[in-house]
Amino acid sequence: MKITIVYDNEVMKEGLRAGWGFSAFIESEKTVPILFDTGADSPTLLHNMKELDIDPENIGIIVISHAHGDHTGGLSGLLKINTSAELYLPSSFWGRFPGRKVTVVSELIQICEDVFSTGELGGVEQSLALKIDKGIFVVTGCAHPSMRSILNAASKFGKVYGIAGGLHGFHDFEAFNDLSLIYPCHCTSYKSEIRDLFKGKASQCGAGLVIEL
Ligand SMILES: [Zn+2]
Ligand SMILES: [Zn+2]
Repeated sequence: MKITIVYDNEVMKEGLRAGWGFSAFIESEKTVPILFDTGADSPTLLHNMKELDIDPENIGIIVISHAHGDHTGGLSGLLKINTSAELYLPSSFWGRFPGRKVTVVSELIQICEDVFSTGELGGVEQSLALKIDKGIFVVTGCAHPSMRSILNAASKFGKVYGIAGGLHGFHDFEAFNDLSLIYPCHCTSYKSEIRDLFKGKASQCGAGLVIEL
């Protein structure tokens, strides 16, 4: 499985644009390409996709973590180009998408092979739990429900190996002790603290980062 960060507050590859928001592209041999969140605006999202050789028309599934604009802002522009992707939306994200298959997520569900949703936690946000050889890899949007409850929910699918995504103001760092890979992205308040505390495990995140799992 391969995760490419498409949209982030920081940039790690020349030619990409930064923006306050988050989007990650997930590829696996077993499923159609998946986009998790769409950043704050479609021009930045689509520019970065082009630079990263990601064809927006090929995305088969779009998952939205939560209803905040820095995660949903690129969606309408993307849907004008991609007319077939299925949507997995948390129940708190209202909206109409005529002619499209929409799954409204509240409970923990399987999205496709090796890809699960934690369900909408705290009435606000879903995270992805990806099944990889080493366990479960979690991708979060802003982690508003707190990482503890996200990690708890994700661990129902197996032992959590790593995480990537916005961690917001989370600083109960002991919750990360058992993780082997940590990418604090987007809105994470304590990026440098996390990287210092988990040396060798935690790494910088930014648009253009590729995580091979
Ligand atoms: Zn956010
Ligand atoms: Zn948010």
